[in-house]
Amino acid sequence: MAYVALYRRYRPLTFADMVGQEHITKILKNQLKTGKVSHAYIFSGTRGTGKTTAAKVFARAINCLNPKDGEPCNECEACKSILEGNSTDVVEMDAASNNGVDNIRTIRQEVAYSTTGLKYKVYIIDEVHMLSAGAFNALLKTLEEPPANVVFILATTEEHKILPTILSRCIRFEFKKIGKPEIIERLKYVLGTLNVGYEEEALERIAYLADGGMRDALSILERCVNASSGDVTAAKVEEIVGTVPADLIESLVINILDNDVNSANKTVNKILEKGKDLRNINDAIIEEFLNILIGLSSEWPDTISDTVKEAAEGVSVARVNLIIKHLSKLDEDLRQSTNGSVLFKAKMLELATKVPVLDENMLLNKIQELEMKLEEVLRNPPAPTKSTRKQDEKAEDKKVEVKQESSVDNVEKEVKKEEKSVKLVQVKAGKKQLKELSKIMQRASDEDNLKVFSALAGTEAFIEDDTVTFSTKNGFAYGVLNKDTSKDYLKTLVEDEIERDVNIRIEYITEDSKDEKSFEQMMQGTDVPFQVID
Ligand SMILES: [Zn+2]
Repeated sequence: MAYVALYRRYRPLTFADMVGQEHITKILKNQLKTGKVSHAYIFSGTRGTGKTTAAKVFARAINCLNPKDGEPCNECEACKSILEGNSTDVVEMDAASNNGVDNIRTIRQEVAYSTTGLKYKVYIIDEVHMLSAGAFNALLKTLEEPPANVVFILATTEEHKILPTILSRCIRFEFKKIGKPEIIERLKYVLGTLNVGYEEEALERIAYLADGGMRDALSILERCVNASSGDVTAAKVEEIVGTVPADLIESLVINILDNDVNSANKTVNKILEKGKDLRNINDAIIEEFLNILIGLSSEWPDTISDTVKEAAEGVSVARVNLIIKHLSKLDEDLRQSTNGSVLFKAKMLELATKVPVLDENMLLNKIQELEMKLEEVLRNPPAPTKSTRKQDEKAEDKKVEVKQESSVDNVEKEVKKEEKSVKLVQVKAGKKQLKELSKIMQRASDEDNLKVFSALAGTEAFIEDDTVTFSTKNGFAYGVLNKDTSKDYLKTLVEDEIERDVNIRIEYITEDSKDEKSFEQMMQGTDVPFQVID
């Protein structure tokens, strides 16, 4: 017998067999019972939640000669021809590989003809968001004047990429992630029919890794069953999909907390050598940081080791929050990337750089806070006593970088009028923010220059006469951007965008000085990260 993947072999044949989507199957069954079916449906939801399965059950149910309570019988001539893939009236198309306007035109021509034996023609278009713009328009025309006996089922993992004009012509169903208990129950059922034993913990782990997708859960289970005979144990699951040993994850977390770029680099290399799934590893790192966040805010969870606790001492909640934010974004990027290890390494080393990662919102909040304080001072000018002089000195020490020049200019004038000693640094006449920065980042991303792209995130750019200055507080970003190849690359991008010749300058701002050499000095003699990810 030909080998059939578990998720195909155990694909539900009726709505009743489907797990976790009762809110959808109930409505579909009702429509089928009453004969009030729509011409077009959108099934959206993450992968492996049953969209295609539901579409196939629907295609049979609507054509079944002996439907029962909105369900297909799966035995009549019509059901059988569809199940065996012999009917030309039920067409499955993957828009990822057939995204052209010609494919949709073919469908448009076909729908004009009557069916070849079944009651309805059913077109199931998978990953419909992948269609080209032209194909979408052709599809729209078909949906605008649908023949009576045709039903379209458009499945997608990314509903937001579908034109509103298409969405408005369809009945939409959102497939939920399937709950852990439902997944575990199904796994137990499958293992029962295969006559294979299991550890409860192993199934828990599979359900966790599958993240709401039944297909993923069954694929992992299948790999475990095929790998060796005997029960499915937690150790076996770990061996198959596994993340890397917990002590490596812990080391990396400590390296990041310690701002130890060198050690982080070595740990990342060890992790990459294992060749395990990077998203799983990233998950484990996120979990560790979440536990640290809990520990810093209230009580330390038991799972956190003393060495990690020690490393986390004195680390701010804001920084841990930011790290988690970066790692969550990384998860998204890894999902779409074909070169995950570069992304993974770049992000880990970025997080481990000496300079705390600042994000734009934090910076803006700080500026706003300071501006409010300034206004307060200006409204109620205190008598220049010893203590206020001290405060003024402190404000000066903060070295605020100011974005909104006009309001700053006003404040500055007023400050002068009041002859206060509060000064704002780094506001130079003629120095403007480079508006084209986001376009430049987009270009770097489109051209797959991930190094420069990731270094530009959080970097600011200013233009003054013929000089464009990229200014960063992030040592890692500075290291990447300050290389000649990067500067040449940036020069080309900037000149393309603003259509004139410029010089490129890279500026590194530390909290206590603007010394551009400090980062290089800091990195001297070390295994610097920007050598590694070349
Ligand atoms: Zn039937």
